[in-house]
Amino acid sequence: MKTAEKIRIVADLIAIDSANNHEEQIADYLLKLFAIYGIKASKITQFPGRCNLVAEIGDGQAPKIGLSGHFDTVSPGDETQWTTSPYSAVIDADTLRGLGASDMKAGVAQLVITMIELKQAGLPRHGTIRFLGTISEELTEEGARLLADQGYADDLDVLLFAEPTGVAIDQLPAYFDSGAARIDHNTLDALLAAAETTQAREQHFIFQSHKGWMTYTVTAHGKAAHSSMPGLGINAVDCLITYYQAEKALYANLMETSAELGATIYAPDIFHGGTQVNSIPAIAYEQVKVRTIPELPNSELINRLSHLIDELNQQPDMNLELTVEQSEVPVANSTPLTFAPFLQHHAHTTLAEPLDLPTISVSLGTDASEFRRRNSTAEMLVVGPGNTSAHQVDEFVSISAYLNMIELLIASLTDYFSVNQKD
Ligand SMILES: [Zn+2]
Repeated sequence: MKTAEKIRIVADLIAIDSANNHEEQIADYLLKLFAIYGIKASKITQFPGRCNLVAEIGDGQAPKIGLSGHFDTVSPGDETQWTTSPYSAVIDADTLRGLGASDMKAGVAQLVITMIELKQAGLPRHGTIRFLGTISEELTEEGARLLADQGYADDLDVLLFAEPTGVAIDQLPAYFDSGAARIDHNTLDALLAAAETTQAREQHFIFQSHKGWMTYTVTAHGKAAHSSMPGLGINAVDCLITYYQAEKALYANLMETSAELGATIYAPDIFHGGTQVNSIPAIAYEQVKVRTIPELPNSELINRLSHLIDELNQQPDMNLELTVEQSEVPVANSTPLTFAPFLQHHAHTTLAEPLDLPTISVSLGTDASEFRRRNSTAEMLVVGPGNTSAHQVDEFVSISAYLNMIELLIASLTDYFSVNQKD
């Protein structure tokens, strides 16, 4: 495929407004594109106007690699803050700007074009590559949940997510200082030294693990009463405060940590109690987001919270209730990486960045959590052409990073299948 065509595909995807909705239009566009090159794809409709997409090349046999990207973007925020419309791709030298350029329309295009070019080359002769395009990654990961539940990841040996993993060279120290990612000290020293003299614009990483997360609500049920006779009621705010102190102690005393991912991160974000002055509040609640690690999995944390609540509910007038709204498991790889070394090998020439795709661990979540729930052994890697401008006004992708990432993935998959073919 010609370079101009590759760039046009990203621009076309940006021109489709898929901010938290309308992913069917992306699915239709890609379905048509795949069809031109003889690749069969199927839409998997989840809600009106919202479709996932699955496509496959190869002979249907192992080894099997999944390539996954999400079709939704976050909302553009205040559009007047954008230099140009978020829905029209604008090119300026090596920069292509537009909503989703980084997160992750360039990544989706990279995966699709990689499959098209491999198909044109008659590859893989033995083995399978499956594209998994999802809806609603940014809010609920329910596209990935549906595809996982339908078994699309059960037989995969490797699953790669082309989320943005690039960092501008001059932002590297700030990136690691921010706590966004963990890297071993020696690698960081080598990286910062190499960054001093590089001609590269960005350094890309492979995220080899990320935290899980959970959102939950704890509701305290009291009893309303006129504020002149509080003794007739039960103040739900008092009950919630008692619980909150105990919950804080529970998190402060956690012993588990992860060498790769660090500690469980507890963030009590919303407190609400009472409805009007002059009434004892009958209800109060707290909403929490917690980022989880494999050493203290979501299910075990839920057990401990439930146990705490059961204990407190033994006290007079205590009536607490736990509701888990969403639970996404942490993603890590327990066996040595088999596909990442191919990417790192080819990164040396295709990306030519200070280091060849160093592996790091990050706090943010991805669709990988949903697929990990169903497939505990596949190697799951996050690596893609975008950068940290994701979720910001004037989001952009480096055009050269995008084009080079296509070459990188084609070369790595070609090698992987020629080494691993089972005949
Ligand atoms: Zn994303």
